[in-house]
Amino acid sequence: MSTFKVHTATCPACGHTGWKVEIAQGLHITRLPEIKQQLLAGTFQTHRCPKCEAPAVFEAPVVYTDFDRGEYVAVENARTGNWQAAITRHQTVFRDCFELGPPIAQEMAARFKRRIVYGYRALREKLLVWDAGLDDRAVEAVKGDLLADEGEAPREVVLRVSRILDGGHLLFSLHDPVPRPAEVPADQPFVLALPPARDFLTATADRVAARMRDVASATRDYPWLQDDWFVDLHDGPSYLYQ
Ligand SMILES: [Zn+2]
Repeated sequence: MSTFKVHTATCPACGHTGWKVEIAQGLHITRLPEIKQQLLAGTFQTHRCPKCEAPAVFEAPVVYTDFDRGEYVAVENARTGNWQAAITRHQTVFRDCFELGPPIAQEMAARFKRRIVYGYRALREKLLVWDAGLDDRAVEAVKGDLLADEGEAPREVVLRVSRILDGGHLLFSLHDPVPRPAEVPADQPFVLALPPARDFLTATADRVAARMRDVASATRDYPWLQDDWFVDLHDGPSYLYQ
């Protein structure tokens, strides 16, 4: 079931408060194609302040499921900063729902791609990548290769797929990492101002194809991409060494 609840919003840019937005409590996209369109367009739960018109995204934890396509993505936000606890929680839910369920649920579990992501931009990226028939581990490795070319470390910047260009080239937008907020009550969304991308980088289709032909090379070069749930270049190192 997907449900929405009304949230009283405060603008992260000007502090204007008292306006209302709707926040999703759970998502099952198989039944909600219009939500998938909003996710792909980058407009999902993005609202402009009625006073200063600055855009902000209201991120609440949701589980994105697409049963037809075998996709199960648990979306956390910067507030829920502990990987291990989040993964353990979602593994338990997944096991209770699928692996310990009737035979048909067990069959489903075996073919599901399971992921945990932080933020809607990261969810959007998974959907774009899978819709294009790409393996997300290969794409994460391509990001690492691009950053190495630029002399940047995966912890200092965040690359997300912005668009897939004609010919299969990948256009990435480059962002500053989202800092963990001091405190957000558990029942409140994490509200994130949306500054424009700092820069863009392009990976050629050849480069992407080379990683796709040898996906094992991705986990060889970036070992933290082997995780069953958490496939993200940037937070991998901190996940690995914490
Ligand atoms: Zn405002």
